[in-house]
Amino acid sequence: MSDLDPLRHAHRFCPRCGAAMTTRPDNGLMRPACGECAYVQYLNPAPAAAAIILREGRLCLVRRKYPPKEGLWTLPAGFQEYDEEIEACVVREVREETGLEVEITGLFAAHTGVLPPDRPVLLVVYRVRETGGSLQAGDDAAAVGFYGLDDLPGEIAFAAHRRVIAALRAERGRAKGSP
Ligand SMILES: [Zn+2]
Repeated sequence: MSDLDPLRHAHRFCPRCGAAMTTRPDNGLMRPACGECAYVQYLNPAPAAAAIILREGRLCLVRRKYPPKEGLWTLPAGFQEYDEEIEACVVREVREETGLEVEITGLFAAHTGVLPPDRPVLLVVYRVRETGGSLQAGDDAAAVGFYGLDDLPGEIAFAAHRRVIAALRAERGRAKGSP
């Protein structure tokens, strides 16, 4: 994360007064700030949600149709809309990308990662279970399917999603090892 430059995403002009933006130390960080008024631009990771959908141990994965990482695979996932609850976000993204209707059964993990080239993302990962719908790749997906954790269809696009798959494999290993 340390090579990220938040100033790349700074406004050029103050959204309050229109003056040119500069930078100012603020709580130990250099932040974009207005040269004329008190406005400081706080840059944060963008929240997104991803879903773990399992059918008899096989994981639902979506093949990306568009850049970045076009053609690679991910969990069903997407960015939270401005006026949306994160729980609604994951249900919506699953519907849009896979055609499946789901409900949340638990919170699995929250990972911070980077959407290439340099957009920090907070990925909230939920376990969900199917309640309806039918499996069909959505508009921004090239393919969708269920795949064994040791028989993935291709490269996984994002490190945060690879971490989730590694955790699922470890969980399965523990389940097999338990009496
Ligand atoms: Zn200003």
